[in-house]
Amino acid sequence: MPAPDTTPTVAVVFLLPACNMDCSFCVTEDDFESIDPSRLDALLAALAIGGTRTVIFGGGEPFLWKGDLLAAADRAHELGLLVQVGTNGTRLPDGFETLGQIDRWVLPIESTDPTIHDSMRVHRSSHHARILDRLERLGRARREVTLSTVLAQPNTPGLVELGRWIRAYHGRHRNVHAWHLYRFLPLGRGGTRHREELEIPPADYDRAAQAVLEMDLPFRVFRRSDMYHSATVDFFWQENGRILRGGDTLAQRADTSPI
Ligand code: SF4
Repeated sequence: MPAPDTTPTVAVVFLLPACNMDCSFCVTEDDFESIDPSRLDALLAALAIGGTRTVIFGGGEPFLWKGDLLAAADRAHELGLLVQVGTNGTRLPDGFETLGQIDRWVLPIESTDPTIHDSMRVHRSSHHARILDRLERLGRARREVTLSTVLAQPNTPGLVELGRWIRAYHGRHRNVHAWHLYRFLPLGRGGTRHREELEIPPADYDRAAQAVLEMDLPFRVFRRSDMYHSATVDFFWQENGRILRGGDTLAQRADTSPI
């Protein structure tokens, strides 16, 4: 459990490792547990007491969690936390765009090109179309979204075009809170297996991210060259019946040395 004086501003809680997709860049490890609802309650309370402002429920796919995700979101709200959910968008409940329990949706988009986006997800065709549908529905309902993009070999050349698309989407709906640009990391069940065809040199990541920053987009763009290290964000999950924390621990699970 986090000590109050080291509690992060933003807490990412991995509810479970399981997912119904198989993305080639997935950094999730299979060897942690689905978090017990009672442990999650205690974690949320400790985070709120310690000063955390935002909780992001992630996974795996959080809508596959055995507990009641919306009840957990209600509990987080009672504790004064802003609630975000990072989801692949495939298992959302009916009427998701009107749910009051979720303040912000974090959705993935890798490219404006459906072929490139879908090719980065093994055995999942038409995911791109589904993401566009989710974004449109959330936009029409005036719900906030954060977009996340993993920069890898197939999609980095089209990053500025994707930025133009997100700017146009935001122009219609005014609902993009931020866009996170993650550098592909050779970690987890996807990343370790797909390093060769996905990894890009740090300089290529820097160039592509800089080009996006120079677009002066009307929402915040975050460079996340190392997704597990941030001064304000930390990560929580359950292993051997205990809640663990720490981006350092996650990053140490694989060799992340630059190519
Ligand atoms: S990156 Fe893909 S496979 Fe991994 S948790 Fe997210 S949606 Fe599932």
